[in-house]
Amino acid sequence: MTHRVLVAAELRNLLEPTQLDGLDVTWIAADQPTPKGDWVAIVPLLSRWVGGTELKDLPRLRIVANCAVGYNNVDVVAAEMRKVIVSNTPDVLTEATADLTWALILACARRLVEGIDLVRSGRWSGWHPEQLLGMELRGRTLGVLGAGRIGQAVGRRAPPFGLRVLYAARTPKPDFERDTGAVRADPSRLLAESDIVSLHTPSTPETKGLINSDALRRMKPGAILVNTARGDLVREEALAIALEEGRLGAAGLDVYTDEPAIHPRLLAAPRTVLLPHIGSATTETRRQMAAIAVANVQAVLKGKPPLTPVFR
Ligand code: NAP
Repeated sequence: MTHRVLVAAELRNLLEPTQLDGLDVTWIAADQPTPKGDWVAIVPLLSRWVGGTELKDLPRLRIVANCAVGYNNVDVVAAEMRKVIVSNTPDVLTEATADLTWALILACARRLVEGIDLVRSGRWSGWHPEQLLGMELRGRTLGVLGAGRIGQAVGRRAPPFGLRVLYAARTPKPDFERDTGAVRADPSRLLAESDIVSLHTPSTPETKGLINSDALRRMKPGAILVNTARGDLVREEALAIALEEGRLGAAGLDVYTDEPAIHPRLLAAPRTVLLPHIGSATTETRRQMAAIAVANVQAVLKGKPPLTPVFR
């Protein structure tokens, strides 16, 4: 028996044909609206909203297998009410995203974008003792705001760089503290004491706009803000103003509120390193994300529990 399923067309090259055994796949491109019909599963990218209307238009749906760890593109309350399972792809993307976070930390601290621009412009006139001076990491403090899988993986990379770690999470993380010497702090202390603040909470009603103009004013002068979590944690115009006024040292961003649009003032602001949402973008990780998303569909359609549900 084959099951009709909707799968993001962009995942096609990442999946092996055997992973799709027993599935009658309708591929939907990111720019195509979600169709109405009798599909029993959907594997969307994080750019596709799956809310009340979509769930109503797919009355036989049994699972939304999101191809991302974040699931703020799915109305989980509406799904739960309709008894539709929602799954995500945790763990497999943790290390790749932590690596990219460090790429942003180092790029901001050592002014990589300005250096690359200088060389490419042909205006570089040679070594100068005061050229593009950055932030020495040794002896500084990294603030990990949201110390789950990715936040902890970022924090675990900090001690070899000589950084002290502060973290904020709703619950204490004793193993993380023991392994890294990290100290739990409330978000306002973390903002006030950190030289680098790295965001790793999910996007929820509580965390949206967490980094607003007040929070930015509480940060140390010259501090670096890094966001590889979700764009709407940060008020982009307030961030642009803090950078324009030279209050912040730099901002390294992988995610934006209204992707792929970026607030024009932020795009024009100084001292930014702006990436196109590539936190999990390694070949291995993207293949594993696609595989887990489809494995969740296969499990549910065989009457088994999903591997990685977002609620039970
Ligand atoms: P996770 O393991 O669930 O970690 C989330 C952490 O945030 C937890 O430690 C949680 O605290 C904490 N948290 C939640 N609400 C909070 C609040 N109001 N204040 C302080 N801390 C709060 O998730 P993850 O796997 O690390 O992923 C984190 C996020 O990264 C995802 O939701 C996704 O949006 C984003 N992401 C982005 C990319 C990219 O491509 N840039 C890739 C992967 C993931 P408790 O542990 O105490 O509950």
